[in-house]
Amino acid sequence: MIAKRIIVALLSVMTSVVTIAPAPVLGQKGQASPVAPRRELVESVVKEAYAQFRGDTGGKNADYIPALAQVDSKLFGIAIVTTDNQVVTLGDVKDPFSIQSISKVFTLALAMEEMGADKVFDKVGSEPTGRAFNSPIAVVDMQTHTGNPFVNAGAIATTSLISGNDANAKWNKVLDFYSRVAGEKLTIIDEIYKSEAATNTGNKALSYLLAKYDRIYADPFESVDIYTKQCSVGVNALQLARMGATLANNGKNPATGEQVIKAEDVPHILSTMTMAGLYDGSGGWAWHVGLPAKSGVGGGIVAVVPGKGAIAVFAPPLDEAGNSVKAQKVIEFVSQKLNYNLFSPSSVGWK
Ligand code: GLU
Repeated sequence: MIAKRIIVALLSVMTSVVTIAPAPVLGQKGQASPVAPRRELVESVVKEAYAQFRGDTGGKNADYIPALAQVDSKLFGIAIVTTDNQVVTLGDVKDPFSIQSISKVFTLALAMEEMGADKVFDKVGSEPTGRAFNSPIAVVDMQTHTGNPFVNAGAIATTSLISGNDANAKWNKVLDFYSRVAGEKLTIIDEIYKSEAATNTGNKALSYLLAKYDRIYADPFESVDIYTKQCSVGVNALQLARMGATLANNGKNPATGEQVIKAEDVPHILSTMTMAGLYDGSGGWAWHVGLPAKSGVGGGIVAVVPGKGAIAVFAPPLDEAGNSVKAQKVIEFVSQKLNYNLFSPSSVGWK
C-alpha cells in the first residue's frame, strides 16, 4: 500500500516536471518578445498616461541641493525598454538629469560583483529603517547601523566597499560600471556635483557616525565624495529605462548584450528595491503598484518588471517623501493597465 502511494506520488512529480515549459530565451535581438505585451498596446497606454498626467502641478523640486531647484519643473519624459530591447518613449526623454539615489542600486550591484552578495549583506544589511532616507537617528538606533543600501548611511557604506588604489580609481570604476549598465557612456553633471558637495554636511555627519560603529569600510569623507559624485551622474529617461531593463533581463544589458550584473545578484537587488526603493513611500508603493522601483530626488523613478522590461519616468516635482509625483502616477497607471503588479498571480503566471 505504502509502496503504491510512493509510486503514485513519484509519477505525479514526474508528470509535473515534464509539463513545465522551458524558460523563454530573453533579450535576443530581432526576436519577438516572448513575454512583453504587444507594442501597440504599450504605446497607447504610455500616450494615455502622458496626456492624463502632463498638466499635474503637484509637488515641488528638491531644493536642499540648490542646483536641483533650478531644473525646469515642467520637464516630463516616459521611457520603456523591454528585455528584447524594444523601446517606447514619449516627451523629454533625452534631457539629462542627476540620477541621485537611483545610483545606489548600481553601486550595490557593483559591490556584489566585487565581493559577493553575502559579504555585502553582512556589511550593510537590508532592513527598512522607518525613518527619513538621511536620518542619523536610524544609524544610532538600528542594530545594523547601516539599515540598507538605499538609505544614505547604508549607501555611503556600500560605496566605501568599492575597491581601488585611490579615490579616483574607485570613482572611475563606479562610473564605468554605470555606463555599462546603461549601454552608453555616462558623465557627471558638474553643477549638480559642485552644489551638492558644497552642502552635504549631513552626509558627512552620517559617515562619521558610521565610523563610530565600524560600519564604514574606507575613509569616511572620501566615501562621501565618491557617493556625491555617483549621485551627480547624468542620465536621461531612456538611459535610465535601459538600466532598469538590464536588471529585468537578469543582469544582461538588452542593447549591448553584455552580462553586466551577475544573474544571481539580481533578486537581491530587486527585493531591496521593493523594500526601500521609494523611501518612506515604499510600503504604499508596494501596495498600489507592486513593482521593484527606485526613485531619486532629481525627479527620476525607474520600475522593473522582471523578465519583461523597465519603465523610467522623469518629472522633477517631488512629494513629501521625496518621490516624483508625476512619475509615481504614470508608473502606477501603466502597470495597472498592462497588469504588471508582481504580487498579482495573474501577472506572474497564473494557470
Ligand atoms: N544625493 C542625495 C543625498 O545624498 C541623494 C538623495 C536622494 O536622491 O534620495 O541627499
